[in-house]
Parts: sequence; C-alpha cells; structure tokens
Amino acid sequence: MSVAPVQPYTAKTDIGHFIAGSHVAGASGRRQAVYNPSTGSVARHVALASVEEVNSAVAAARAAFPSWAETPPIRRARVMNKFLELMGRHRDELAAMLTAEHGKVFTDAQGEVARGIDIIEFACGAPQLLKGEYTDQVSPGLDNWTMRQPLGVVAGITPFNFPCMVPLWMFPVAIACGNTFVLKPSERDPSPSTFMAQLLMEAGLPSGVFNVVQGDKVAVDALIEHADVKALSFVGSTPIAQYIYEKGAHNGKRVQALGGAKNHMVVMPDADIEQVVDALVGAAYGSAGERCMAISVAVLVGDIADKIVPLVAKRALELKIADGMNLDAEMGPIITKEALARIEGYIEFGVKEGAKLVVDGRGHKVAGSESGFFTGGTLFDNVTPKMRIYQEEIFGPVLSCVRVPDLEAAINLINAHEYGNGVACFTSDGNVAREFTRRIQVGMVGINVPIPVPMAWHGFGGWKRSLFGDMHAYGVEGVRFYTKQKSIMQRWPASIAKGAEFVFPASK
Ligand code: NAD
Repeated sequence: MSVAPVQPYTAKTDIGHFIAGSHVAGASGRRQAVYNPSTGSVARHVALASVEEVNSAVAAARAAFPSWAETPPIRRARVMNKFLELMGRHRDELAAMLTAEHGKVFTDAQGEVARGIDIIEFACGAPQLLKGEYTDQVSPGLDNWTMRQPLGVVAGITPFNFPCMVPLWMFPVAIACGNTFVLKPSERDPSPSTFMAQLLMEAGLPSGVFNVVQGDKVAVDALIEHADVKALSFVGSTPIAQYIYEKGAHNGKRVQALGGAKNHMVVMPDADIEQVVDALVGAAYGSAGERCMAISVAVLVGDIADKIVPLVAKRALELKIADGMNLDAEMGPIITKEALARIEGYIEFGVKEGAKLVVDGRGHKVAGSESGFFTGGTLFDNVTPKMRIYQEEIFGPVLSCVRVPDLEAAINLINAHEYGNGVACFTSDGNVAREFTRRIQVGMVGINVPIPVPMAWHGFGGWKRSLFGDMHAYGVEGVRFYTKQKSIMQRWPASIAKGAEFVFPASK
C-alpha cells in the first residue's frame, strides 16, 4: 500500500466560526458530529451558529467593507497573490482534510484544491477584470463611461462535496472585487473553511473581510433574512437552491443558486471503446459519484451497449475501494451513513422498477474499516426514462445505462430531463459533435471529455433546474455577479450651452 505524502488529518478540536479576523468558539450550545466516513467514527464536532452569531459575522463584514472597497484593486490583488502562494504551500494538508472529512481519495482531493487555486489565480487579475468602459465625445464636450462597484457584504452557502473548491468559486472573486464575505460551509466537512480563513489572514487580508459561520438552516435563514447581505451565492441540492433563490429574491438580494444534476454521457457507435470505458468508470465512480458533474447515465446509441456494458461491469467489480489516504484507492466511502442508506435505497428502487442490476455494490465491506460508510460501484442496464433511478439525482456510485437507437433520440432524452448541469458525447465524427453541442439543453458540454468543468476564467453553471439565477459561478460572470454597474455622464462648464433644455437629450 502506498501512502499519501502528508499525515492523515486527525485533529479532535471542535470547529468554530471565524469572525473579524479571529477563531471564535460556538456559543449557541448547538453542535453536530463530523465523521471520518472511512472509519464511521466521530472525528470532531462543528458548532452550529445562532442568529446572533450570524449577525455578528455580518456586522464584522459590514464594518470592514468601506475601507476594503476603497482599497485599490491592485492592492486587493496582491493579497490574493499571497493567498495563492500560501494555498499552494498548504495544498496537501488541505487535501488530507478533505479526505478525512469527505472521504474522497487523496489524489482526487489534491485535484479539488488545485482547481480551487485556479480561481484565486483568476482573481489576481482584479485590476484588469474591473476596468470600466469609456466613450469619448458622445456629444460635443460630453463623455460617458461605466464602472463596476462592489455590492457590500455578500454570502456563500456551500455543499459537502467540494468543501474547498466550491467556496473558492466564490470568495476570491467577491473579495477581489471589493466585497466582504460571510461563508456558511457544509456542516459535514467544515475544517477547510477556517483553515483557508487563517491563510487569508496570513496573506494580509484585513480583519472582517472574510468571515465563516458554521451551521445549518438556522444560519442560512439568518443570512437570507439579513438586510445587510446584498447577494447570496449558493451551491447544493435543487430543492434548497430553489428555496434560497426565491427567499433571497423576495428579500431583494441578488442570488445565484446552483443545484443538483443528472449528467448523461452519450456514446456513439463510432466512439473508441477503450476510451469510453475509462471515461465512464472514472466519471461514474470517481469521488464515489458524489460530484455534481459525475456521469450517472450512459446513453448508449445503436448496438454499442452490448460491447460497453460487460467491460464497465468488469471494471466496476475491480474498483479498489479503501480509505482515501491509501494511494492505491480509486474510490473512498460515502459522506454519511444516511447518504449511504439513500443510495442503496435507490438501488432497491431500480430493481423493483425492472432495471437490470448488472453489478450490485450494496453491502460492500472494506477489510479493517468495517464500520466505514462504503458501498461498491453499481451498474444498471435497460434503464428507462420512467424509472426513479433515471429521473432523480442519486449522488452515489450508481451508473444507469439507457439504450437509444440514434443521436436524435439521445438528444431528445437529455433535453427532456429536468436537470441540465453537465453532459458528454463520445464520438469520432465532427458533425455529430457539432450537432450535439448546438442542440443540447445543458450548460456544460464535453466532447470526448466526460467531466467538462470549465476553467477558472470561463465560469461554471448548468441550465434548467441545475441553476437558479442569471449568472454562472466565477469567471467574468462571477465578476459581474459581485459588482454592479454605474454609468457616468460628464461634461465641463466650457461645453455647456446656455439656456434650459426641454427636449429629451439625444446625441448631436
Ligand atoms: P444540500 O443542499 O443538502 O446543502 C447545501 C448547503 O445548504 C449546506 O451548506 C447546507 O447546510 C445548506 N442546507 C441544507 N438544508 C438546508 C435547508 N433546509 N435550508 C437552508 N439551508 C440548507 O447539498 P449537499 O448534500 O451538501 O451537496 C450535494 C448537492 O449539491 C447535490 O445535489 C449536488 O448535485 C449539488 N451540487 C451542485 C453543484 C453545482 O455546481 N451545480 C456543485 C456541487 C454540488
């Protein structure tokens, strides 16, 4: 067994909040267990904030806003630059934290941190990103320009499955744009949040610009209700995304709320079989299927299914499942016992609904970690669109194969689904790829790329019920989300004509 280059993360101290530049222990009297899903045992506890604790974090962010907003973008970018360097230096420690609390394998956790770091690097371009637009001489002696200004206090509410990367989709861009930030991370894997807060302090970020409140619905609702929170960024399941979008909008906030997914991978008869099998196995079972961009449906076109299904089945049975700090592991445990029961419950639904269970991952035990929340890779064939395992997000290592006659049927199937986060098409035909890309009703498309997570400067977001709101996360869309435009028209006394004008001004 080869082991990770850092020690496993085993700190027992409770995880509290980070407010006004300091670690703050929870004072609400409410706390929740944080598990190591590989062992199934409680590793530490996390505080659950009261409304008063949320209010004090928002107050700290509000107090820090005026001078941070006044700080020249290049100086804000220098803090981000230092943060970038510190994150690079602590990448493996953070990855070990992710493996300990989320369960994903260490190399996958390193990848998560690296993709988050990309966004910090993007945010270092703040001076360039915040440049306005200028029109000289819209009329004699009159100029017009637009500039973008920060919103104020903004908040981020994030899911368990990317406890490092998803917060990094939000706060580097928000802060580089001159906002101050309150993060409410997932209560299931909270440790990276305060670790990153500490690194931001070391990078020279003024106190109060970045704050963390741990918690549950109480904390989320307090952020939604708070008049000083000007915008909410949310990533999580669709029912909560919709709730946050509706409540946030009702309270006059700008909201981007990214929700759940059911990502399809179309396999055309001309695709390279070996590449397809590798892609399906990695994208369906990587991170135990707990990725919003995981492939959960293989749409097998024509007669290719009979070639693909047995090969994927063989690989699913051979998956190396173990504690993620073991570098040989390909798949770790599920986040909680409840999530494991939900996933295995869906497998039962699939059997009852008549899908063909080709590989059954239920009840998988890992020697030496018998109490861990493990399940094996599961594979269904002959799944139909009427089945719950097709319609609903399972969020586990369960791959459903649907057989369709042609590309047209594949596109129609995907376009009829309520989710539209990611999609992939494997083919060697350029025309098929082009047709697919143009017609598919999904926000992120991969051609021979199973998990097409856009780069930091392109922005991330799905369509349909995978995203509520107008703007994608990070990239230029992120900059727009975290700033508001102001338009200025200016002229000087020498170019002002005498006399009142009663005609609506037009350019002359
Ligand atoms: P979740 O919706 O349960 O939780 C997300 C956040 O919302 C957490 O911070 C949680 O504390 C909070 N929350 C939970 N219930 C709440 C309630 N009733 N009221 C207010 N706040 C509440 O999601 P999760 O289980 O942590 O994450 C998995 C989900 O996130 C999956 O559906 C996955 O597809 C989705 N996800 C989507 C994307 C994307 O970019 N579209 C990315 C990652 C994860």
